Amino acid sequence: MPNRPTPDPNPTPPTSGAAAHDAEGGDAACWLPQVCPDCGALNENPAAPCWRCGVTRSPGDA
Ligand SMILES: [Zn+2]
Repeated sequence: MPNRPTPDPNPTPPTSGAAAHDAEGGDAACWLPQVCPDCGALNENPAAPCWRCGVTRSPGDA
């Protein structure tokens, strides 16, 4: 198998699959990286610890 390039931290879904996530109403990719994966709180700075539960996450770590 050929070497695969470094995974994109913010992969853009193909147009064919965009409709599956269109229920959120808008471009989910705009705020999805800011949503805490642990408690679901919306953080303005995804690189900073969550204001609600304090969890930290690396920007680009899916
Ligand atoms: Zn949180």
